Amino acid sequence: MSEQSFHLVCPHCRATNRVPAARLSAAPKCGKCGQPLLTASPHELNAQTANKVIQKNDVLTIVDFWASWCQPCIMMAPEFKSAASQLPQVVFVKVQTDKYEQAAAPYNIRSLPTMVAFRNGKEVARQSGALPSHQIIQWVQSLQS
Ligand SMILES: [Zn+2]
Repeated sequence: MSEQSFHLVCPHCRATNRVPAARLSAAPKCGKCGQPLLTASPHELNAQTANKVIQKNDVLTIVDFWASWCQPCIMMAPEFKSAASQLPQVVFVKVQTDKYEQAAAPYNIRSLPTMVAFRNGKEVARQSGALPSHQIIQWVQSLQS
């Protein structure tokens, strides 16, 4: 337990970092580019970063699949951001499916918005439809532990 650590992919430069569990709550920075690994507001992933972040992150990673034409997606954006700021040890990221179709293709997204939770590269849960921040938080907390 004392030496437990997690892999965290830098959303900025895609370097995989190894972060001791104890450092997760101390705003860890990327060893390569120096930028924060855990951002308070959800990072927008592109086709290159999406798969790597999803596959390599050991920590709970919530991906909001959205599209620019999707009104409920636009409405949920500030709720998702608010949830992210309240759960700093969970990775919250976004994939714009109408811009990066290939990034979303492997995950079989049938409706928007859909939030998919991943851990160790595996899907652990998904939630379709827009939710207010407190329900997003409840859902994410139910997946922790
Ligand atoms: Zn980096």
